[in-house]
Parts: sequence; structure tokens; C-alpha cells
Amino acid sequence: MRRIAVLGSTGSIGTSTLDVVEAHPDRLSVVALSAGRNLELVRVQCERWKPSCVSVAEEADARALAGLLTYKPHIHWGAEGLMACALHPEADTVVAAIVGAAGLASTEAALRAGRRVCVANKESLVVGGSLMLRALEAGGGELLPVDSEHAALHQLLAGRPLETIREVRITASGGPFRDWSLERIQAATVEEALNHPTWKMGPKITIDSATLMNKGLEVIEAAVLFALKADQIQVTVHPQSQVHAMAGFTDGSYQLQVCGNDMKHPIQYALLYPDRLPGPVAPYDWDQLRTWSFGVPDLERFPCLALAYEALRAGGTAPAILNAANEESVAAFLAGRIGFWDIAACNRDTLSSLATEPVHSLEQVLDTDHAARLRARTWIEKHTC
Ligand code: MG
Repeated sequence: MRRIAVLGSTGSIGTSTLDVVEAHPDRLSVVALSAGRNLELVRVQCERWKPSCVSVAEEADARALAGLLTYKPHIHWGAEGLMACALHPEADTVVAAIVGAAGLASTEAALRAGRRVCVANKESLVVGGSLMLRALEAGGGELLPVDSEHAALHQLLAGRPLETIREVRITASGGPFRDWSLERIQAATVEEALNHPTWKMGPKITIDSATLMNKGLEVIEAAVLFALKADQIQVTVHPQSQVHAMAGFTDGSYQLQVCGNDMKHPIQYALLYPDRLPGPVAPYDWDQLRTWSFGVPDLERFPCLALAYEALRAGGTAPAILNAANEESVAAFLAGRIGFWDIAACNRDTLSSLATEPVHSLEQVLDTDHAARLRARTWIEKHTC
């Protein structure tokens, strides 16, 4: 029986994780839940799973939740509460599904403690990749990606010698602006950017899908997870989101990973690995008539993807700078303060104005994150519409 701590339980990955647990009552159980401010949902989740450890964002929320529950778990709050869930002694598995750089310390701590960490928080790998690998080695646990493309790559690459891999390709749906002209993209509204054609996700990642920054962050994530160089990771536009990744071998042939576009698939893969069991996702239906198409991303219309390659090649703290700038610019766009095209401009300005250093500590990358946010906010102030 795997005992799971879900960090970010009320988000889209968190709720899908609990659906997967529901489908495997003899294999999976929940011992800790960490949520933000959605008290009603975390209350329902607590009553269903009866975790002994719960954490919410604020002290007042923790008190309110205690008054609502019919049993008495340990209820924590804030960054310490999140850490209490990540390091819960009964948990052998941690699903790291906090959005943004806020998830870094808890992911690192869980790896250092030797847990199986199913990482959906891509910022952990983008911002602190080398630190996460160090923590993984020190703790002797496991790191399994929950991002669909990386779960696909894990399925394609697990157990293969690195020297047989020529390149990998992760697919991008292309987002809502895949076929839009440059001029139209430049004037895109928040509503248009939130209208993702194939995946239903939170607002931050949905905007990142519209700019292709999400794919850029995933390129960096793949480099960390699979010890690949920037030139070995390519992006293929595949609007149907049925092929999630491809492995290209030295002999020129490829293997593709295929499944429907439901995050419960990669979540179950990570939780049950190396086992494969029927789960909440129906098998792929090959009897249905389908057309798959593949294309090349246009870096002129999607400059954020080019910025991610630039940051990966620069190495060190460059991905942390880019990620922080992007979190700020996306938040400003969602708040209606800057335009869609400003996201890339802000990210580019921030990336080019801060010096890149080799990464040596979590504190340092968090300091870098902070400095990059300040720089990005200054840019946003100047460009607020
Ligand atoms: Mg993905």
C-alpha cells in the first residue's frame, strides 16, 4: 500500500490524483493533504480521505477548517504546514502539485527524505533542477515526472542507455493561437488566451500554453530529468495531443508514446510505477477514425519558446530568472495590466538584465527568483496599459 501526501490537493493535478487513488483502494491511500484557500473543497477531501495531516494557506483558514471537520487531524498552515505534509512520517510518496516557485522547498525536502516524489510542479525542476537531483541522490528515493510529456519520455527511455538516444521530442498542442497571425496574437485578450483547445488546466499553465512558455519550461524540465542537452530536445506541434513524446534513437528510428489527453494517465503511471493496472482512464480507442498532424513551432510568433532554449543553454540561474519573470508577467496579463505580447517582452528584458550564476543552494535560487521578480515588476509598472 502506497501512502500518499498530496501537495496542492485542490488544484487540477491534486483532484485528478485523488481520482486515481479512488480507483485503487487496495494499492493507494492518502495520509496528508496540503491545499491553498479553497476551504470547502479541502473539507470535502478531508472527510473522504481522513488524512491525519492537513495544511492550508492561512492560520485563520486552519481554525475555520478545524471547526468544519467531523474528525481531528493535525491542521497546519503556511510554508511550515506545507513542509509538515511533505515530510509526513507516514507518507512514502509525495505528489508535488503546487503551482509555481512556491513548490520548490517542499519538493526538495521530500526528495531529500527519500520519498517517491511525483513531480507535477515543473518549477522545481526548471528553477532548481540540479538541487533536486542532488536531493534525490542524497535521499535515495525516486523522482517520477507527472507532466504528460515527461511521463511519456520516462516510459520511452526508462532502462535505455543514454548513448542510444539521439534526440527526444515533446509535443505541443500549439495552444489557442496555433494558427493565428502574428498581428492577431499580439492583440490577444485574456479570454482568448484562456480558451485552450485540448487541455483543461489552471489559469497560469493555460496562459503558458498560449505563449508556448509551458513547452519551453518542459524542454528545460526534460534536460534535467533525462540528462539531455538542449540540442537533443525538440518540440513538435501536434494539435491532437495524443502522442505525448517521441524518442529518436541513434539508428534514426523513433518510438512514440500514445494515450488520451487525461492527466490521470501520467499520475497513475507515476504512483504505480513500475506496475501497470486498469485505472480511471479508458484505453486508447484505435477504432475511432483519427487524423494526427505534426508541425514545427514558429519561434517568431511564440518567442517564449526561444527564450527557454536561451535560458537552458545559459544554464545556472538563467532558468530561475526566466521562470520568475514569467510568473510575474503572466499574473500581470491575467490581471489586465499588460498585453499578451508583453509577456515575452517582460521575460526577455528580465532574462537579459540579470547575471547568470552557477547554482549552489536553494537559498540562492530563491534569492535569484526574488530579484528577477522585482526586475519584472519594474518592467510591468513601466508598461501597464
Ligand atoms: Mg505538459
